[in-house]
Amino acid sequence: MTNLKVESKVESGEGKLASLPRAKLVERRDVTDDLMVIKLVPEGGVFDFKPGQYCTLGKEGVERAYSIASAPHEDFLEVFVELVPEGGLTPKMWRLKVGDTMSIRPRAKGVFTFKDNFHHHMMLSTVTGVAPSISMIRHYLHERREGHTFYVLLGASYQDELTYDRELSSLAVKYPNTVKFVPACSRPDEDRNVGWTGAKGRVNAIFESYLGRFNLPKEDTMIYACGHPGMIADVKEKAALAGWNFIEERFWKE
Ligand SMILES: Cc1cc2nc3c(=O)[nH]c(=O)nc-3n(C[C@H](O)[C@H](O)[C@H](O)COP(=O)(O)OP(=O)(O)OC[C@H]3O[C@@H](n4cnc5c(N)ncnc54)[C@H](O)[C@@H]3O)c2cc1C
Repeated sequence: MTNLKVESKVESGEGKLASLPRAKLVERRDVTDDLMVIKLVPEGGVFDFKPGQYCTLGKEGVERAYSIASAPHEDFLEVFVELVPEGGLTPKMWRLKVGDTMSIRPRAKGVFTFKDNFHHHMMLSTVTGVAPSISMIRHYLHERREGHTFYVLLGASYQDELTYDRELSSLAVKYPNTVKFVPACSRPDEDRNVGWTGAKGRVNAIFESYLGRFNLPKEDTMIYACGHPGMIADVKEKAALAGWNFIEERFWKE
């Protein structure tokens, strides 16, 4: 990351998080009432991470993990957050405005990262679970790499929750050998999805048909599943039964 400097004072009410580094909110995009994409610049402008890892953000004494959607070369940390109305942190995040700060643990964590030794990468996610895939793809393309293919199957109940669909659609057109994108709505008949012409059904119910449609070789394919624990549990069971390589990142426990 470049040397964007954040002048931040520790805010009152931070309690046990008061001694941690801060990250400043530099952009906020409200996608729906309960989804937002925010960009943060950490103090000193430097935050090392591998695409697919998560950072730990905090506010007013509460910390949670967030997968990073941006790539390491970008000047900000981008995270895609869903509001949990009764949750400890996200209601506080919804009150944030540009210029406010959050605490950030100094180290990124996680092993849900790009598995280079496979040529085919089937990335299954629900809503905010797309973040690690975005980071991996942005990084891969920034490095001008070739020879691997990302098959992104992104699911949501409603089309307006798909959020990174424009970016993924345009990358799929620009880099057809590297990015394939399948957005899917699980409630196609509801009013909010009027006009929907893409795939229909839950990611866990349709991914096997896309493994077949893309003719993916089992021994050279990694399946990544990220987001909703119910989706992941079902994919894991099906993938394990059929002998696919599989890794997961669950955002919460059911
Ligand atoms: C490795 C990792 C990466 C994560 N990355 C992201 C991310 O990129 N974006 C993101 O929005 N969240 C992500 N999460 C979830 C995040 O850490 C928080 O749990 C979430 O934002 C809710 O925080 P909260 O304090 O408001 O609610 P909490 O007080 O943590 O949770 C309240 C209840 O809601 C459940 N819950 C948590 N998240 C959801 C949800 N999305 N939908 C329904 N129920 C939920 C919890 O299990 C709990 O029962 C990630 C979690 C992990 C472990």
